[in-house]
Amino acid sequence: MSTATENIFQAIISHAKEYGFVYQSSEIYDGLSAVYDYGPYGSELKKNIKDYWWKSMTQMHQNIVGIDAAIFMHPTTWKASGHVDNFSDPMIDNKDSQKRYRVDHIIEAKADQLREAGKSAEADALLASMDQLLAAEDFAGLKQLLADYQIVCSVSGTGNWTDIRQFNLMFSTQLGSVAEESDTIYLRPETAQGIFVNFLNVQKTARMKVPFGIAQIGKAFRNEIVARQFIFRMREFEQMEMQFFVRPGTQKEWYNFWKQERLNWHLSLGLPAEKYRYHDHVKLAHYADAALDIEFEFPFGFKEVEGIHSRTDFDLKSHQEFSKKKQQYFDNDIDEATGKPYGNYIPYVIETSIGLDRMFLLILSHAYEEETITKEDGSTDSRVVLRIPAKIAPNKLAILPLVKKDGLPEIARELMDECKGAFKCFYEEKDAIGKRYRRQDAIGTPFCVTIDHQTKEDNMVTIRHRDSMVQERIPINKVKELVLSHISY
Ligand code: ATP
Repeated sequence: MSTATENIFQAIISHAKEYGFVYQSSEIYDGLSAVYDYGPYGSELKKNIKDYWWKSMTQMHQNIVGIDAAIFMHPTTWKASGHVDNFSDPMIDNKDSQKRYRVDHIIEAKADQLREAGKSAEADALLASMDQLLAAEDFAGLKQLLADYQIVCSVSGTGNWTDIRQFNLMFSTQLGSVAEESDTIYLRPETAQGIFVNFLNVQKTARMKVPFGIAQIGKAFRNEIVARQFIFRMREFEQMEMQFFVRPGTQKEWYNFWKQERLNWHLSLGLPAEKYRYHDHVKLAHYADAALDIEFEFPFGFKEVEGIHSRTDFDLKSHQEFSKKKQQYFDNDIDEATGKPYGNYIPYVIETSIGLDRMFLLILSHAYEEETITKEDGSTDSRVVLRIPAKIAPNKLAILPLVKKDGLPEIARELMDECKGAFKCFYEEKDAIGKRYRRQDAIGTPFCVTIDHQTKEDNMVTIRHRDSMVQERIPINKVKELVLSHISY
């Protein structure tokens, strides 16, 4: 990261804390690394992102239903899914600083440096070699790559590395009260398996026909070794996942469908297309026949925010094997090639998986702006504004009586009563109006409405738009309608 981007990112982190979006977990005990709490505005924003996703998945798609599975699952789940054997990252330690790194991360950081120095071709070559070596699990080759590109530890500055080895990322705990008799169980590292083990329950009880999807939002836990970059990589985080069950042979078509559909979801929030790109995986996970990341340009570069994976029938087949319970679906649609029903099969799966916290960071970092304002008389002023899409902003409307007397608060309260059932409003009567506007800008409130003495005469109020700072007079009975027209989806 360059100093300028580092500064902006630090400013965003400070802003998130100062304005009640995100706090370090257990801060009074000096915090717990890579674990965070959401404050009053943060929890509203997070919930709004969740609702926006949930609605777009389960309400806008007739063939997708939701579930809410438990975090704890039978331990065999994680054997069947491959997580016990495969859910690990290649790690390396620097012998001088004792710092531990994920090998792919330090190589990617080197590629970023090369790119910043104008050596894009060299950066591409480095990443291509890394992908090949990771795919072949050639750890000696990866270590040689570190030496070839003189990749050193950022703390000690040396390239004195240990060998590379795998490290499992699942947290385990005990189920049961007597230590000797208790079973090891895991905190789920992804929400997907809760969907797979319920595939037949959902298909039968909700009478779903392939192709159909099951959506879920929930916590996931990973013992990330290198957890930096604020809420980008956490040890406890939330995922919004959807598994879409399709007829074998149609997975490519559905993969392309969801690839586009999910990008459209991001763009529907008004986020700029040029900040997004797809990244196709070269090294495929053990369960996938195709995979890509949707990447966004964060302050620290293009990074994954969402994964689209064509998971084949790996998971259902594996659960069938381990549980000895058939995971088949009977498809009575007629296959034109044979003139007979498609019959029994284990469906293939396309997964869309987005990190809620990562989406939160995306919104926050894109919304944050330190703006210089040139006034009419030529003088300048500045403000920090969060240009959060109105649909998901924590507060939609701030209701501000100009003064705390002369009947203005009463009118403001009436407006509050009219609007508060429809969307989240904020009432404030303290401080000068300019100061109140700035506070609302800093938490991303798209609209402020001011009630002044003139309102008593003509029932008109001033509505101020956060982004343009334009102010207009509108009838007080049109306020609710105007706000609703910007936030409904
Ligand atoms: P990465 O390569 O960044 O570790 P991943 O490819 O392992 O991510 P997936 O298993 O595909 O991630 O998880 C799907 C989504 O969950 C990711 O796109 C990301 O948004 C989110 N996610 C994964 N791990 C974390 C984490 N430790 N903290 C926050 N979000 C995460």
